[in-house]
Amino acid sequence: MSLLNQTHNPKLTSWVDSANVENCDFPIQNLPFAIFRLRDSNEAFRGGVAIGDQVIDLAALSQAKLFDGVVAQALEACSGSTLNDFMALPASAWSALRAALSQALTSGSSTEAAVSQCLIAQTDVKFDLPCRIGDYTDFYTSIHHATSVGKLFRPDNPLLPNYKWLPIGYHGRSSSIGVSGQAFHRPQSQTKAPDAAVPSFGPCKRLDYEMEVGIYVGTGNAMGDKIDIDSTDDHIFGMCLFNDLSARDIQAWEYQPLGPFLAKNFASTVSPWIITNEALAPFRMAWTRDSADPQPMDYLASARNSELGAYDIELEVLIETSQMRDSDTSPQKLTQSSFRHSYWTVAQMMAHHTVNGCNLMPGDFFGSGTQSGPNAGEEGSMIELSNGGKKSFELLNGETRTFLEDGDSVIMRGFCAKNGATRIGFGEVTSLVLPAKG
Ligand code: MN
Repeated sequence: MSLLNQTHNPKLTSWVDSANVENCDFPIQNLPFAIFRLRDSNEAFRGGVAIGDQVIDLAALSQAKLFDGVVAQALEACSGSTLNDFMALPASAWSALRAALSQALTSGSSTEAAVSQCLIAQTDVKFDLPCRIGDYTDFYTSIHHATSVGKLFRPDNPLLPNYKWLPIGYHGRSSSIGVSGQAFHRPQSQTKAPDAAVPSFGPCKRLDYEMEVGIYVGTGNAMGDKIDIDSTDDHIFGMCLFNDLSARDIQAWEYQPLGPFLAKNFASTVSPWIITNEALAPFRMAWTRDSADPQPMDYLASARNSELGAYDIELEVLIETSQMRDSDTSPQKLTQSSFRHSYWTVAQMMAHHTVNGCNLMPGDFFGSGTQSGPNAGEEGSMIELSNGGKKSFELLNGETRTFLEDGDSVIMRGFCAKNGATRIGFGEVTSLVLPAKG
């Protein structure tokens, strides 16, 4: 079963020279979507696609009337201030626009002159959230993260018995999800030290990041209907980098019995670009379940899911402290891992989410859960790096950290690379910690 087509051909080059540079995040094989406008302007936000170091203005391209039929309809749907209308179209329309853009941007294209009029340098634009995120569900799909964090919260019972039977998730809050560059105040709430008799109120002392993949729902399903595991590709629009900021001390006091609340709803940040599910096709891989573990129930299993369910997306986190910023020191890498280690696939998350008849809407969003890998150096959060805050670690410039401090900027990057395919990048997402509000 192949999901590949001409748009993935590694031999394709673009007349936009910056797209052909080795290790460029946005070669012609990528073509991710964002919402943008010119920086420092009052222009309307509209859809754009990245190519090299440029953005194609999709509203301008729509106006240029180079296309007709479903491609023209798709461009029109990308011309507004959110991508929801485009995401609501059938997957065949996303694919038709990708094919048309690929052709128009290929070296020697007859439309180069007209399309080049629609390019804007990425350094000149400001991004907004790519869509109106309706509902946000955060999963917990890394068994390595679930086990290490479970040990800290429940030493004798780290992994609860349901973990290996279903993709665990909770319903989050979308209003505080922001786009890369988000600056947020350190949250305040109740916390209780283990040896204290009563809780106290104040700023979070254990502020953490979570290295996650974000998944955007495209076409939705009617309430009462489930999405079959083998139909999920018709509904998965694309993916991004997602920093799910977390207040561990607030979480520890509030999370039982109903799950995280203020520990998780003060800020979370997405990268501006949505890498489409189609662009990720070359980096899908086999998914397996250890034979010693419970095998997934029928609605969570299929030959297709076993053959193509996993995505090999390399993820990394860097920290830039205010001291680094002031002394022009490069950000320091703290961790790296891959989404391929996920215990559950995106198809399983979506099949489970809807098996009770829950309706997903265009623009709904899933967090994958913190993606920690099996080895040291692959911890997707600071609570793991600092062993529950018990051990601080030293940075190269001599500073130490157990959790995030005011002025710290967290930077996440991601990319996909393998032999026989062109490397594609996710760009980056940054989040800046401001002091608690007085
Ligand atoms: Mn999370």
